[in-house]
Amino acid sequence: MEIKVVKFGGSSLADAEQFKKVKEIIFADPARRFVVPSAPGKRCSSDTKVTDMLYSCYEMASRGENIDEAFDKIRDRYNGIISELGLDLSLETEFDAIKYAFRHKSGRDFAASRGEYLNGIILAKYLDFPFIDAASVIFFKQDGTFDADRTNTVLSVTLEKYNHAVIPGFYGSMPNDTIKTFSRGGSDITGSIVARAANATLYENWTDVSGFLMADPRIIDNPQPISYITYRELRELSYMGATVLHEDAVFPVRIMGIPINIKNTNKPDDRGTMIVSEAPENDEGPVITGIAGKKNFSIITIEKDMMNQEIGFGRRMLEAIEKNRISFEHLPSGIDTMSVVVAENALVGKREQVILDICKAVDPDHISIQDGIALVAVVGRRMVSSYGTAAKVFSAISAAGVNIRTIDQGSSELNIIVGVKNEDFETAMNAIYKAFVK
Ligand code: ASP
Repeated sequence: MEIKVVKFGGSSLADAEQFKKVKEIIFADPARRFVVPSAPGKRCSSDTKVTDMLYSCYEMASRGENIDEAFDKIRDRYNGIISELGLDLSLETEFDAIKYAFRHKSGRDFAASRGEYLNGIILAKYLDFPFIDAASVIFFKQDGTFDADRTNTVLSVTLEKYNHAVIPGFYGSMPNDTIKTFSRGGSDITGSIVARAANATLYENWTDVSGFLMADPRIIDNPQPISYITYRELRELSYMGATVLHEDAVFPVRIMGIPINIKNTNKPDDRGTMIVSEAPENDEGPVITGIAGKKNFSIITIEKDMMNQEIGFGRRMLEAIEKNRISFEHLPSGIDTMSVVVAENALVGKREQVILDICKAVDPDHISIQDGIALVAVVGRRMVSSYGTAAKVFSAISAAGVNIRTIDQGSSELNIIVGVKNEDFETAMNAIYKAFVK
């Protein structure tokens, strides 16, 4: 039987009107059995997310300030939803307990997690579905990393007992029973974990956009939507700054090959984007799937004659980077040159030391650091089977008068990464987009 796990983001549950849309969506398909809500998000652009209200209220409490007013605002958000939906539900006991916990230093994660916890209780009541506290089924290890094995064992056994359930997103529990959250936007991860444990046929992630666009609409005018994207392509694009789905949300479902469908709560009939392990054969579209990018990288370039014959050169060079606790993004290299691309802010306060350590490790002829570099990733599964993609990317960029500082193509031919100056970023993105999309 078909099982769909449906996750609703903060804007999909921001007020009673949105709750009504969500209920309609869930009841329109009996396969939609397990529901993962976020905390109420913004109702308009000037509004504040409940999660942010909780963080700041908790900080006030930690500083010993009076939180009565700030806490009442949170209480009002929920009570507004409850009364507008006409629910016979009071969360006053919960509110009082949470407020008490805030004053007694219950922890920042506990504070933030109450956003989805309370929203989950309301949604469960509204749908008349059982509520499963995420703290009892989602676990973290002592070191704070997610405990996938224990979670999957407990959660799959638990879900088997239910036809339907609401499981709040974003948090779980530590071995000592305290609450821990994922990073921001982490309800996407919970949805994926639940989909895996339920052995779902589909993970629907409902948000306020109709899927992924081929590029950031703030940079490219009216970019095309993406109908299919593979997990690997998505990983490349989200790593390079494309948002919509939390980057860690792919892992749990990917193990099981469960597709993710990004859908729009406000336009439920739009197809949205399907994230899959393999795109269907008849899927036609541009050679590239998407373009994403980020600014503010630095390129450390080392030159040394006959470097190619020096065994262990690369290792020693990377050890010097590692020693400074810097993670690198890319390693474009030539015969006698090697470059390491790192985030500019990773070098803050360490620049001299890094240079010193590299000199000690590999004794280069020349070493330089160039800041202010933007990376643009052109991602596409079809690139591997089509000729001339790289040439097209490079000629589009140079025709736009932009100088390419560095090039890196993964051997899987899933992406081409180009480094340009920060100020050329938008021009390069537009030039590439126009070259591939008519
Ligand atoms: N409410 C949390 C946040 O704002 C988690 C989420 O919405 O996914 O980050």
